[in-house]
Amino acid sequence: MSDSKYDLVVIGGGPGGYVAAIRAAQLGMNVACVEQRPTLGGTCLNVGCIPSKALLYSSEKYAEARHELARHGVGVGKVTLNLAKMLARKDKVVADLTAGIAFLFKRNKIELIAGHGAIEGPGLVRATPQEGAARALQTRHILIATGSESMPLPGVEIDEKRIVSSTGALSLSKIPKHLIVVGAGYIGLEMASVWGRLGANITCVEFLDRITPGMDGEVAKHFQRILKKQGMKFRLSTKVTAAKTTRAGVTLTVEPASGGEIETLKCDHVLVAIGRRPYTEGLGLEAAGVATDARGFIAIDTKFQTTAAGIYAIGDCVPGPMLAHKAEDEGVVCAEILAGQSGHINYDAIPGIVYTSPEVASVGKTEEALKEAGVAYRSGKFPFTANSRARANDLTDGFVKILADAQTDAVLGAHIIGADAGSLIHEVVAVIEFGGSAEDIARICHGHPTFNEAVKEAALAVDGRPIHM
Ligand SMILES: Cc1cc2nc3c(=O)[nH]c(=O)nc-3n(C[C@H](O)[C@H](O)[C@H](O)COP(=O)(O)OP(=O)(O)OC[C@H]3O[C@@H](n4cnc5c(N)ncnc54)[C@H](O)[C@@H]3O)c2cc1C
Repeated sequence: MSDSKYDLVVIGGGPGGYVAAIRAAQLGMNVACVEQRPTLGGTCLNVGCIPSKALLYSSEKYAEARHELARHGVGVGKVTLNLAKMLARKDKVVADLTAGIAFLFKRNKIELIAGHGAIEGPGLVRATPQEGAARALQTRHILIATGSESMPLPGVEIDEKRIVSSTGALSLSKIPKHLIVVGAGYIGLEMASVWGRLGANITCVEFLDRITPGMDGEVAKHFQRILKKQGMKFRLSTKVTAAKTTRAGVTLTVEPASGGEIETLKCDHVLVAIGRRPYTEGLGLEAAGVATDARGFIAIDTKFQTTAAGIYAIGDCVPGPMLAHKAEDEGVVCAEILAGQSGHINYDAIPGIVYTSPEVASVGKTEEALKEAGVAYRSGKFPFTANSRARANDLTDGFVKILADAQTDAVLGAHIIGADAGSLIHEVVAVIEFGGSAEDIARICHGHPTFNEAVKEAALAVDGRPIHM
């Protein structure tokens, strides 16, 4: 069709971009990926999902050894913490996994081009490395997968030392005495959990009157109660207006969200985690005719086509949940569409998971969203206190809630707070994907004793017939 060198040039090697590149190569395309970081894997592998989960796991082990094991009759003597070793383990996990993606690129014969990618014209990408000459890449298709960056907070300048983004919060070399987390979304609460478990006093300052916006309200309330029990303090309906850094720490100026008396809060570190915004700097979108919406997200149609012919976009830089698995699935589907196949993605069946202890996981609609849309639904709830495995393991915090259509019984949403909620949710994700009902879940034989039985019981509760309650 053309004498272009590549079938596809992907800009950005995060979960969206690298997965799209691999799928396109599997489908026989000649693919290059331009990445400006020294390693592949994007935000997720380098400074997001993976390092945060590595630290969550390590810090949970520490907290378990300090506070939990004795209850099980296990004595461990004096528990000590080697923070440098914990951080080094996290760094090794990241290094191994990012190297793994580079290996997959080689195996799939994908050319990795180091440098900043910019669109120069139809079918033309310029890759400019930090050192050395730029390269002009001719291609049939261009895929933008440039991801996102932390949202800045006016008046609070991030220096990644005293005032950090999530990236700095993954590498603090000392445990803060007092860490203020601005923003009570999932990233802020996960990092707050890490440093809180390691000994920091935590205060979360949130503009809204609730934590984790978008999460089912009942679950969010329960979640906040549990986090408070773990020692986190919350200042809701509060806005941060300024920060002053001294050698000793940071003084934050706060006031009620609706205006009112100004107050100062002192701490030794501030984490700004008020959300993320699409990252499209220096891509040359305007000149290429690629439109963005009012919030800077790249506008796409249902086939990931931007407003410019031959240019596609996926992942965090397009609208939708900013999640790695959403970016990956879009990468697969986009590559399949480019290869002439009909890709499929169901945006109603994308799970969201907060990896705190306990975990919080959800899929589909919240009760608030169903009420707002005027959808008649039935709700079934089952607490982990009534689940035998949760009792055996002494992990009884939380519950499973399933929401089903009042007429058809189709599962519309599920919200779980409890141990391993992030794994449990996938049963409901599968049922939603197959268009199943609460009765379907209730009729599936679940192993005993498992946490999964709480999902079955919640499904039975939709019809008012749980067995163990
Ligand atoms: C602390 C933290 C924890 C998170 N935890 C989770 C989690 O547990 N689960 C989850 O699903 N999601 C999580 N996320 C979100 C997840 O990381 C993102 O949703 C995901 O990385 C988005 O993938 P992406 O490919 O769209 O973009 P990114 O991963 O951001 O990758 C984009 C890549 O493009 C590169 N790039 C940008 N512009 C250019 C250019 N012009 N030229 C060349 N390269 C360029 C960037 O360097 C980057 O490597 C977390 C995020 C953070 C910050």
